[in-house]
Amino acid sequence: MSTKIIPAQTIKTCDSCGVVIDGRNARQEGALTIKAHALDMYSNPCADATRKLDLCDGCLFQVAKAIDAAIDAAKEQQ
Ligand SMILES: [Zn+2]
Repeated sequence: MSTKIIPAQTIKTCDSCGVVIDGRNARQEGALTIKAHALDMYSNPCADATRKLDLCDGCLFQVAKAIDAAIDAAKEQQ
C-alpha cells in the first residue's frame, strides 16, 4: 500500500464577480476592509459589522472608482 499526500489548497474567489482569484487576474491582491460597529436600537455599538472583501483586479478598479465617485458626490453636496 502506498500513500499519497495531497496538500490543502486555499482557493479565493472575488467577492464581487465570483471569479477564482489567481496570479493572472489579481496581480494587485485587491482587498477592501470596511470597519464599522453595528448599532443597537439606542444607537450604541453592539457588534462588529466589519466587512472584508477580496477583489480581482477588474473589480478592484470598479470598486475604487465607485468609492471615489461617492466621495466626490458627497463633497459636492456640502
Ligand atoms: Zn471580480
